[in-house]
Amino acid sequence: MKHKAKLGQNFLVDEAARHAIVAALGDISQRTVIEIGPGRGAITEILASRCKRLIALELDRELAPELAHRFRDQPNVEIVEIDVLKSDLASLAPQDETADVIGNLPYYITSDILLHLYAAAAQVKLARAVVMMQREVAERVSASPGRREYGLLSATTQMYARVENLFTLPPSAFSPPPEVHSTVLRLEFAPRFHELRVDAAGFDAFLKQIFAQKRKTLHNNLRAAGYSTAQLTHWPTGISQQARAESLTLEAMAELYRALSKHAL
Ligand code: SAM
Repeated sequence: MKHKAKLGQNFLVDEAARHAIVAALGDISQRTVIEIGPGRGAITEILASRCKRLIALELDRELAPELAHRFRDQPNVEIVEIDVLKSDLASLAPQDETADVIGNLPYYITSDILLHLYAAAAQVKLARAVVMMQREVAERVSASPGRREYGLLSATTQMYARVENLFTLPPSAFSPPPEVHSTVLRLEFAPRFHELRVDAAGFDAFLKQIFAQKRKTLHNNLRAAGYSTAQLTHWPTGISQQARAESLTLEAMAELYRALSKHAL
């Protein structure tokens, strides 16, 4: 069967894996689930029989109507032909209920999809997401501070969710097989902005500044971002100016942001 490589179409054909991915969401019998990129329905089929309501977002204009036809007798299933990055999850999901997200993601836009979910988490009550992505990207998302893989995607994700690395699949689990291994992560949404006493928009922007050039020190990145010498005199004593962002915990990043942004003018 044909597939569109440019849409990241590698369809899951491993029977045990498709069940394990759905099982990772837990009890969904009373839940609305949003599926990203249902494709030929490998996960969709199991979800449809288990969850209260399924909203599946598929960009491919041939696959979306095929799926709609296939699930036409299941009123709890809604197939929406849309680019997930242009979808307004807040208007798709029920306002007063908690929703979950699942998806074997199109790898070419993995980070953009994750950022889209984090932005939506401010408006929709998202409980958890089970998402499959290229193994190397999953290692970045779940890395702890001090690890080589730790970077902007790790810090940003971990401000929004607790991350668990569940399992990794070889290329042979898919048709056609991709060139990379794939890892399934579970994100439990639990934003930390309030606890760390930072505003979400300002702190997200600050993370981009301190990770702008990974090999540069914190101090040099902030100088390059326009912080003045006067502002930087308020640097907290417990954090080295020569440290790199990748070595800092989120608590330390928040402390630095609070100290410097108080004097932002
Ligand atoms: N869920 C299926 C499976 O596990 O076999 C398909 C997974 S495949 C890796 C990714 C799916 O995402 C494809 O069906 C592709 O058409 C769809 N897709 C690609 N870009 C998309 C986008 N921007 N919005 C929604 N779906 C997209």
